[in-house]
Amino acid sequence: MITHYLDNAATTKPSAAAVDAMMRCFSEHYGNPSSLHMAGLQAQQETDHARAVIAAALGCDTREILFTSCATESTNMALRSTAAAYGRRRKKIVTSAVEHASVKNTLDFLSVNYDFEIVRVKPDETCTYKASDFFNECDDDTVMISMMMVNNETGHVLPVREVFSMIKRKFPHIITHCDAVQAFMKYPIKANALCADFISISGHKVHAAKGIGALYVKKGTKLRPLIFGGKQERGLRAGTESVPLIAGFGAAVETLSSDMDKRFEYVKSLNISLREKLMEQGSIRILSPADASPYVLSIIVPSIRSEIMLHYLEAKGIYVSSGSACSKGAGSGVPEIFGATSKEADSILRISFSAENTEQDIAALAEAVAAGQREIMHN
Ligand code: PLP
Repeated sequence: MITHYLDNAATTKPSAAAVDAMMRCFSEHYGNPSSLHMAGLQAQQETDHARAVIAAALGCDTREILFTSCATESTNMALRSTAAAYGRRRKKIVTSAVEHASVKNTLDFLSVNYDFEIVRVKPDETCTYKASDFFNECDDDTVMISMMMVNNETGHVLPVREVFSMIKRKFPHIITHCDAVQAFMKYPIKANALCADFISISGHKVHAAKGIGALYVKKGTKLRPLIFGGKQERGLRAGTESVPLIAGFGAAVETLSSDMDKRFEYVKSLNISLREKLMEQGSIRILSPADASPYVLSIIVPSIRSEIMLHYLEAKGIYVSSGSACSKGAGSGVPEIFGATSKEADSILRISFSAENTEQDIAALAEAVAAGQREIMHN
């Protein structure tokens, strides 16, 4: 039994509203949205509603939202399509050195197969990113920039809005993509204000199901499909829509659309409380800066390998992660870029919150980490 789930950056528990919406689509509104009868219409209405909710959350038009299977697909579509549609002459792509594998590996693919030059910007010596660090790398040869808003391993917040607005003023031809997976429904994100042409988001990080994501595509931006077939999603993403997952995504976002600030403040109070408890223990180093997203806290428990502590905590019903869930133990290199030594990087724990967590979760974790340090070190 999971008693203290503190791995919400890996995935979140689907909300009651999301589960209800999915059940409704499994048992009642199970038609194919392309069918011309009433069952098809009901399914179409489910997807229309979810699209309207997600468009409202991003402050955009419903026609600017495309449903995909996950944020990884959204990002592949945005980056590969931009390379194909705009990258014949301009071969430079600017990005951060701390992107999630979905951006990093897609850009590696474009570099190896299509000769794009990838400029991966590192933070300064204080481990912070300034907007000018990205802007200064952009020029007339740059085709696009891809930046995450919140780092999934440490919670560092990158200055996406400043960078994109500076770029759009001086180099309007540069296409801007933001991986907003760890920021969506935690920070207010308005697509126009962000100056983004593309935004990738994911359902399972916001209390919807796994297997559903979306891509915001600014009106007028060229987009080529990755998947060919029928006319679904205006011919840009063929394949029968997963109506239950889409409806669940809409319901989850609808629930989170009110009280975003309140949840943020609540999670921040949990984060601060955990920081204080861990600092009292003396030896723990906190890698996430004070101004990181409060939803992610990366810590270093010296001399204890992440997996050992992770399983020690698991035995006590406490679930955390060792760095990024996607890297499955293989180091991403991101903690080192944000100031960890390579030895420290082997001892990282990522604790990530949702508004469902409580002070009891925090107390249990802090106590178990302290006990783990005593027991593991003496064995
Ligand atoms: N981008 C970031 C920052 C993430 O944290 C994740 C998931 O961990 C993804 C992209 C990929 O999302 P998905 O699982 O929907 O493909």
